Amino acid sequence: MGDSRKPRPDRVQLTCPHCGLPRDQVETLDPDPILLEPGLRVPAHEIPPERRWIEIPDGKVAMYGVCPPVQSQLCRVEHALVCPNQPLPPDPWPRISKLREANAARVEQPVLPLGDEQLPDVG
Ligand SMILES: [Zn+2]
Repeated sequence: MGDSRKPRPDRVQLTCPHCGLPRDQVETLDPDPILLEPGLRVPAHEIPPERRWIEIPDGKVAMYGVCPPVQSQLCRVEHALVCPNQPLPPDPWPRISKLREANAARVEQPVLPLGDEQLPDVG
């Protein structure tokens, strides 16, 4: 009889090809596992929505959908969010970022000192 029910490890530690740091590959409720920072748990409200992974009893992680998050809820952090050698994933706050870009463009406009040439000609 073949042993087709080998125990499957809940998590595997892999090295990030971008930065060389370790990361945990953890099973999710979906077919795709997720890569998380090893040993790190932070308050859920400090992590962007849709990126809050909480540990569930079977060793997997699940997306934490409670909003607003319970203050005491801890969640795991995706390595992709904190990898120093990867760009940040798609912006969780696109409207805020657009406003930042708009303000950055305003900052880059040269602010001319008020001089005689800008005053209305009253002569
Ligand atoms: Zn990395």
